[in-house]
Amino acid sequence: MRCLTLLTLAVLGTAGAHANPASENFTYEADRFADIQVLRYQVPGFEQLSLQQKKLAYYLTQAGLAGRDIFWDQKYRNNLVIRKTLEAVLQSYQGERSGAEWDAFVVYAKQVFFANGIHHHYASNKILPKFPEPYLAKLLAQSDAKLLPLEGKSVAAFARELTPILFDPTIAAKTTNLDDGVDHVAASANNFYRDVTAEEVDAFYKDLAQKSGNPRLSYGLNSQLAKIDGKIVERVWKIGGMYGPAIERIVGWLEKAATVAETETQRRSIEHLIRHYRTGDIAEFDEHCIAWVTDTTPTIDFVNGFIETYVDAVGKKGSFESVVSMRDVEATKRIAAISDQAQWFEDNSPIQSGHKKANVTGISAKVITVIGEVGDAAPSTPIGINLPNAEWIREQHGSKSVSLGNIIEAYNVVSSKSPATEEFAASPEIAARLKKWGALASDLHTDMHEVIGHASGQLNPGVAPVDQTLKNYAGTLEEARADLVALYFSLDPKLVEIGVMPSLDVGKAEYDKYITNGLLTQLFRVQPGHNLEEAHMRNRQLVAAWAFEKGKADNVIERFTRDGKTFFRVNDYEKLRVLFGQLLREIQRIKSEGDFEAGKNLVENYGVKVDQTLLAEVHRRYAPLNIAPFMGFIQPKLVPVKKDGDIVDVKIEYPTDFLGQMLEYGREHSFLPVIN
Ligand code: ZN
Repeated sequence: MRCLTLLTLAVLGTAGAHANPASENFTYEADRFADIQVLRYQVPGFEQLSLQQKKLAYYLTQAGLAGRDIFWDQKYRNNLVIRKTLEAVLQSYQGERSGAEWDAFVVYAKQVFFANGIHHHYASNKILPKFPEPYLAKLLAQSDAKLLPLEGKSVAAFARELTPILFDPTIAAKTTNLDDGVDHVAASANNFYRDVTAEEVDAFYKDLAQKSGNPRLSYGLNSQLAKIDGKIVERVWKIGGMYGPAIERIVGWLEKAATVAETETQRRSIEHLIRHYRTGDIAEFDEHCIAWVTDTTPTIDFVNGFIETYVDAVGKKGSFESVVSMRDVEATKRIAAISDQAQWFEDNSPIQSGHKKANVTGISAKVITVIGEVGDAAPSTPIGINLPNAEWIREQHGSKSVSLGNIIEAYNVVSSKSPATEEFAASPEIAARLKKWGALASDLHTDMHEVIGHASGQLNPGVAPVDQTLKNYAGTLEEARADLVALYFSLDPKLVEIGVMPSLDVGKAEYDKYITNGLLTQLFRVQPGHNLEEAHMRNRQLVAAWAFEKGKADNVIERFTRDGKTFFRVNDYEKLRVLFGQLLREIQRIKSEGDFEAGKNLVENYGVKVDQTLLAEVHRRYAPLNIAPFMGFIQPKLVPVKKDGDIVDVKIEYPTDFLGQMLEYGREHSFLPVIN
């Protein structure tokens, strides 16, 4: 599971201590287009790593890049055709490279690169080009035909075929369709399924789990389910199977990585992952996860594989991602103070005693410095990650929580310049408190969300995993549960006692930020006329709107207007905390019992529909502030220095050109055919 950033109101000062200070003369802002701002991040401390650690980081980063094509293809079957077309035009178009049409084409290309495909990375809807339809044929006609993925077609025929795929909003409208009352498999454009219905998917995997004798495995995580000649078959992602050419490259780099692993457990974890990629065996992936989660000592760590299931509306298929990182020893002390108390938090949680874990085991938490991200983790990145996702491994072996320190630092630096706090805070006092404590409140929220949020609670005996019981509502409800744990304890004196916050003012800043974001500012991320799609956005509105409604009688949260602008002010922080506790108890009950109807009602009643008048107001108020609703990153580049064929050092570079990096990745790390 992963945690994504709020649209930060403002965060100033109070950035936590890190082992290696970041350079102050670093330019974070790199590019700005459509609703996106592209940033850069630093990797302080990389130079001080040993040669062995640098080589390990280099091999793991290359293993990640080798799988980049996979995520494009997973999101939509035509994404690689489209990307190669955009790359060909950008590199070889002989016509006029200026003017409104060309500029609109370049913006479209950047949007597609940022989203790893033609569907918005967050909202999931299809991105429509702003240049006129006939311009596409012109671009293709004057580009190098040898670079275009024509597959034997003429350029004109290819242009005709591609036009509706790009321009028709009804074709492949959403990559992930969570709408109530539709077939979530058939109505989603992703490439996890071909010609099967949600009902067929459900039946196929229930049957598989039953026959296997080992129902706890994550069946379907690493395959496409397709109906071929009337028969439903799994096309497994492995060497010799679907995505084989890319997976062969991944394995090649992992084999090198295994030779320079820092610990014996890390080497075993890499070897299990290699066997998983060779055989497609999900049990090997679980063995990898167990070794990985218990391996808490190395400096260099990584995530590589089919990990998160958010892109699949029914939550079975893993998106390819890679995150390579190094431990931030100093910043880890804060998060460790929380994980050390995990049992206390579980014991003092407002959930029913039967839903609590008697023994919270193996929660390890750290702050990492990211070195490179690919796939579902880039260019848009999580700020916190909690893995593995398999419930049985979490219960028996624990989980590893990481907070992405240098990414959060980059966000903090950039948003500290944002005037949004003054615009949306309910009073100057609240704005001042946010400026003072906003950054620390965000850090603590992320820590608690991952470490004591996702990691808490247990299912009732015999209840199936949430993807089977809560289905398309599982992701939203799980994020709400983790957020509510963080919110409930944000105002607990325990946090002052263990030294992670100086006073409860930090918790109050967190409540102000969360309520304003959930009811107001996050609407900036939604296009007019649309409702909420993404799990984290749905959960944040669900929590804020539910608390607003349930606290109405006591005026816990007050809605008022000033100078024609809408504000939400928390009047009673203690009562709000009680409400958060009640909702947490209910959502934990829903998860523990697998109560689909109650879960559905909560999400549909509070977490989906948007007040369009308020949305229009939020967009109007943001417009003059010149802030992008979404941010992502250019990746650093690791460059091996060789002598007589041996790597004697690895240098780190910080590219500044987003489009340049995307084209370089396309040239150097693309191993799949355009249609898989
Ligand atoms: Zn989460």
